[in-house]
Amino acid sequence: MSAFRAIKGTRDILPAETGAWQRVEAAARGLFGRFGYREIRTPIFEETQLFARGIGADTDIVSKEMYTFDDRDGSSLTLRPEATAGIVRAVVENNLTSADPALRVYAIGPMFRRERPQKGRYRQFHQVDVEAFGVASPSIDVEIVEMALAFLEACGLRDHELVLNSVGDGACRPAYVDVLRAGLLSHLAKLGPDSRRRVETNPLRVFDSKAPEEQELIASLPRISDHLCPECRDHFGEVRRQLDLMGIRYRLDHRLVRGLDYYTKTTFEVTSAALGAQNSVLGGGRYDGLVRDLGGPDVTGIGFALGMERLTMILPLPAGDGRCDVFLVPLAAGGRDKALLLQRDLRRAGLTVLMDHEGRGLKSQMKRADKLAARYVALLGEEELARGVWTVRDMAASTQEAVEDPRLVVYLKEKLNG
Ligand code: ATP
Ligand code: MG
Repeated sequence: MSAFRAIKGTRDILPAETGAWQRVEAAARGLFGRFGYREIRTPIFEETQLFARGIGADTDIVSKEMYTFDDRDGSSLTLRPEATAGIVRAVVENNLTSADPALRVYAIGPMFRRERPQKGRYRQFHQVDVEAFGVASPSIDVEIVEMALAFLEACGLRDHELVLNSVGDGACRPAYVDVLRAGLLSHLAKLGPDSRRRVETNPLRVFDSKAPEEQELIASLPRISDHLCPECRDHFGEVRRQLDLMGIRYRLDHRLVRGLDYYTKTTFEVTSAALGAQNSVLGGGRYDGLVRDLGGPDVTGIGFALGMERLTMILPLPAGDGRCDVFLVPLAAGGRDKALLLQRDLRRAGLTVLMDHEGRGLKSQMKRADKLAARYVALLGEEELARGVWTVRDMAASTQEAVEDPRLVVYLKEKLNG
């Protein structure tokens, strides 16, 4: 029988990579906590209708990318393709916004979309997701953007760009979409089949097109920025003013419409040139009608989702990941028990310690210590055993000294922390 392989579009996150993932998660938890965000964990699967209603039936996600299956009782379930719909469901079901009218939450976990797998695009991928409910003021838009950028910085990302737009709201977007559709209909011949379909279902999505032959037409289309209602225009103006106040640089892009139907007003994205074709690290925006649409109170919402595969792909590797502080080399016939006890005591003292369990020779054990990038090696040969000492070797300096048994833990701790 041939060996099993991971399902197409899924991948293992191997021990050599998990250090980078843990660093991203730790940065998220630390930083988001300081902004008043608390973690929420919702189920991986939900009723299919939640996503159909929450994301929009005409979106790529709902129309062709969801992992949907019938449960044994006949109900239709779907693996979550994004986090917001499930979080909004949980917020409504548990009435969280009445206890906290400025509710701030974040979530970390896997999402599922049946896309064509390629670099930076998987069928199971992971997001860090942030949502703030109940604050209509533009300053929460700025807080969310500021936090997203501070997070990327804390992760060690450099050379990324913030892209910004406003997509209007229920008062101005429908009229703009009509104008846009009319503009597209008069040039149908210049559009490929994908864009032509979108003219009917979701004309804003034409702005996502990368087809070279459509670009000239797209550049000539009416722009949302010229069709915002006074409220959306003021809101966007204030967001930009506060971003300037904070010294946050951004690029305006009227083509940034985002894939999901529920966005209103501010939308944003952070891209990195280091990523190549799939260059979007995170995307987000305001979704003021969504909570109400999903049966909850009329509270505002804004959030973003970050792709962890894409972020960890471009981060510098964490220094010292998988490194061992001390490697014990018991060579003397009766030295093994002493090594086991020392290993226990050093670990209790907070050090990362490994030893050989197979009674191998000096050469092979030193090789192992090198492989583990051990900072110190402690050797116990017949002579050391007789004298009650260990030979402790500083691997970087290539120096060594004899340290008496009772002093070892304190000695190594001082060397490593001092
Ligand atoms: P893209 O334009 O790359 O398809 P998107 O607009 O579909 O992104 P969102 O739904 O806003 O993305 O998700 C937010 C982030 O999640 C993206 O910026 C990206 O980093 C990540 N992401 C989205 N889809 C995938 C996927 N299939 N595989 C890996 N990461 C993904
Ligand atoms: Mg997508």
